[in-house]
Amino acid sequence: MATILIVDDSETVRVQLSNDLIAAGYTTLEASNGLEGLRMLNTHPDEISLIFCDVNMPEMDGLSMCRELHKDTAFKNIPIFMLTTQTSIEMKAEGKACGVVAWIVKPYKKEIVLGGIAKILARQVR
Ligand SMILES: [Mg+2]
Repeated sequence: MATILIVDDSETVRVQLSNDLIAAGYTTLEASNGLEGLRMLNTHPDEISLIFCDVNMPEMDGLSMCRELHKDTAFKNIPIFMLTTQTSIEMKAEGKACGVVAWIVKPYKKEIVLGGIAKILARQVR
């Protein structure tokens, strides 16, 4: 099944989400900020089918990471799910403009997350 990258500075969130995704049959990779997320993508360029991304993180925040990915032809088509406590309409619009296909507010509901992934991956070629 698909490999999903989780980018969040909270280890608690990463572990919980990773466990939920693994239980649903996915493979996961983890990064603790945007820079690490970009590094992870570059070391696994053809593996990652979807990204979960927090907004507030040290080093590089989630929206900055999305902007970087959107400039990169190798990665711009990877769907991104924002998973954040942020609810600002401006941020959501900014995310949408750079590859964010779903905006999920923490704490997440497992059924919504898994349903969203299945729906998005069904549309993807990779
Ligand atoms: Mg955070």
